[in-house]
Amino acid sequence: MSLPLIDVHTHMYLPRYVALLRARSKVPRIVSGQAGDRLIILPDEEADQSTSAGRPMGGEFHVVDRKLVFMDHHGIAISVVSSANPWIDFVEAEEAPALAAHLNDDLEDICAASDGRLLGFGVLALQRPETCAAELRRLAGHPHMRGVIIGSAGRGRGLDDPDFEPIWQAAADTGLFVFIHPHYGIGHGLFPDSGHALMLALGFTFETSIAVSLLILRGTLERHPGLKLLVAHAGGTLPYLAGRLDSCVKNDISKDFGLPHPPSHYLRQCWYDSLAYHPPALSALEAFADPAKILFGTDHPFFRPHVGDDVLDRTTWPSPEENLAALSSLDVERQRAIAYENGLAAFGVALPSSPRRLRWGGASPNGAEGS
Ligand code: URA
Ligand code: ZN
Repeated sequence: MSLPLIDVHTHMYLPRYVALLRARSKVPRIVSGQAGDRLIILPDEEADQSTSAGRPMGGEFHVVDRKLVFMDHHGIAISVVSSANPWIDFVEAEEAPALAAHLNDDLEDICAASDGRLLGFGVLALQRPETCAAELRRLAGHPHMRGVIIGSAGRGRGLDDPDFEPIWQAAADTGLFVFIHPHYGIGHGLFPDSGHALMLALGFTFETSIAVSLLILRGTLERHPGLKLLVAHAGGTLPYLAGRLDSCVKNDISKDFGLPHPPSHYLRQCWYDSLAYHPPALSALEAFADPAKILFGTDHPFFRPHVGDDVLDRTTWPSPEENLAALSSLDVERQRAIAYENGLAAFGVALPSSPRRLRWGGASPNGAEGS
């Protein structure tokens, strides 16, 4: 099996942002030691002994060529790169809009120089909601930007905060994507001494699930049917819980949400990455979502393999490997759609003239598309 890939969930910390994190003395920050740099970003990470040292951070987080090396190794033709969490949430309100614009221009320049390999999702200064619609409309004029990434927590206000309404309007008007991605997690204090594992597996996915459910219940997708929401991590829990959500909303005797459709109707308007990690969850996404709205993702450079820096660029990373293995459980037309066809249509691009081919050798159920 050998398919080109378009990776819609892949991050970078841009050099301007790395410099900012290095200068900080509290989370989020980069700490330099004899063993190299450590990235400490999650809330409470320094307070818990099992996570207080953060995670190793090398050039794979911020050097463009390392992204391209990762892409070549894994057969990724095009990446839609987004800044990683916590974006600019911690920046003072007066500085945030200008920083967002600089980071967005930096990313556009990086993508423009990539020979068709990179597109971008920018960032918004949610601490100044009144600036966000104008920045989105400005981004629509950047040839390589395809939308913005937004934290599911809405920087603590919730994405359903009425002050964010102009963001949804501008995104719908411009046709840009809004990539909804977690950072703060749900369930702080419930997962003691469990490293990053439960916060990432459960806290992150419920954060996203709650954010998107609230947006729907507040009527955001009813008001903006053209809004392109891309929901991280295969929709968190939503493809699996959509039926229960519909039932709980319909049978709620305490509240009428005033929506003409059940929540699942609006959830089917959303795009999802394919980061499901195993066939049962990918099957749930497949059975639930619009088939044209499932897009391949890797979450690079998180979940780094347990190998030394010297061999990292020659090593197959677990997240693409596991998610490609799950993809290979689908029939070959669906594999092709998720691997790249849906991405080409969603982002209005063609594959680069000599796209890299997939090196990974997973079994195809139909034995098609040999390399
Ligand atoms: N951990 C993070 O902090 N962010 C991701 O995107 C994935 C894992
Ligand atoms: Zn991510």
